[in-house]
Amino acid sequence: MTSALLPTYARAPLAFERGEGAWLVAESGERYLDFGAGIAVNALGHAHPHLVEALTSQAQKLWHTSNLFQIPEGERLGQRLVDASFADVAFFCNSGAEANEAAIKIARKYHAAAGQPERYRIVTFEGAFHGRTLATLAAGGQQKYIEGFGPKVDGFDQVPFGDHEALLAAIGPETAALMIEPIQGEGGIRSVPPQCLRGLRALCDERGLLLIMDEVQTGVGRTGQLFAHEWAGMAPDILSAAKGIGGGFPLGVCLATREAARGMTAGSHGTTFGGNPLAMAVGNAVLDVVLAEGFLDHVQRIGLVLKQRLAGLKDRYPDIFEDVRGAGLLIGLKLRVPNTDFVAAARAEHLLLIPAGDNVARLLPPLIVTEAEVGAAIERLEAAASRFASGMRRAAE
Ligand SMILES: *Cc1c(COP(=O)(O)O)cnc(C)c1O
Repeated sequence: MTSALLPTYARAPLAFERGEGAWLVAESGERYLDFGAGIAVNALGHAHPHLVEALTSQAQKLWHTSNLFQIPEGERLGQRLVDASFADVAFFCNSGAEANEAAIKIARKYHAAAGQPERYRIVTFEGAFHGRTLATLAAGGQQKYIEGFGPKVDGFDQVPFGDHEALLAAIGPETAALMIEPIQGEGGIRSVPPQCLRGLRALCDERGLLLIMDEVQTGVGRTGQLFAHEWAGMAPDILSAAKGIGGGFPLGVCLATREAARGMTAGSHGTTFGGNPLAMAVGNAVLDVVLAEGFLDHVQRIGLVLKQRLAGLKDRYPDIFEDVRGAGLLIGLKLRVPNTDFVAAARAEHLLLIPAGDNVARLLPPLIVTEAEVGAAIERLEAAASRFASGMRRAAE
């Protein structure tokens, strides 16, 4: 099929017409159980009444004014995020990559403002994904994404995941910050152990470095805390969030302590669209739900149920599944068969999953998913696995 769209995606031959909660309805009328949630974006599922109400009532009043004026809904959302986190200030933008760009700029400016402009380098970790802008690609360090786009943006030093010696060796007099995902998302749901996150915090304090946490995928309740680093009982200096924060409306945020952001003054950074009244209305509505009493407990509880049911499935199909990992409703199924084939097999059972690195299929259901829907997903995974297993038996005969 020819398409007028730049062919940067290998899209499944499937389009959806509407959605409701954890379900998507295709143009054909077929219903799919959505355990991808638009790559962890539809945190509250599809057509959540509170979000629909917030969006439509704001749409009738005011969409956009620019950041040249006060935006009360933005002040309110910023204050709520600050009150609920380690941070003192928030910068709103439209995506994860932009939130990371802001984080990188804040970290570099911190040292420049302290009279050390030579401290601009940022240490990142192999398998990371920080976005598709030129700087965030350099931060992520994945050769296949960087190649062919000219000189790599300077200022990023990457070390192997979990290699303490290499990390220490990479820190020099030019290092400004460390940047890390508490759980690598695109990299295959690889968690940084809590004691390592605390170790990174101590290391940064000792060397005068800033710690940047990329919570674009792990944030906004995905792991059962507002932010995943909270599980480790530590805090970064700068944090980026996006995906779930707008529940499907393009929204990102960079949070920082006042100290880390001290180099940022009027004119030092900006965005035309970021934090506009429409986005802020939806962002506040998402937080209304995520911060409501008991909501994160629900995510934790249902996440445990999902993980236990997946562990049972793995035991029944040891030739298909190798490992179940992740936290809350950010779950990775490491496969022994090609992950993209398995994702296609699940789709044939009307269950949507998302492939990730390290041969993982991700389960990222909307945070409002019910236990019955988890049961339905397990049945569909079982059907996909059993088809794979019988194919493998036939091939062996
Ligand atoms: C998705 C993602 C990004 C990039 O977000 P975009 O909105 O696509 O720019 C950055 N970091 C992490 C951890 C992500 O999962």
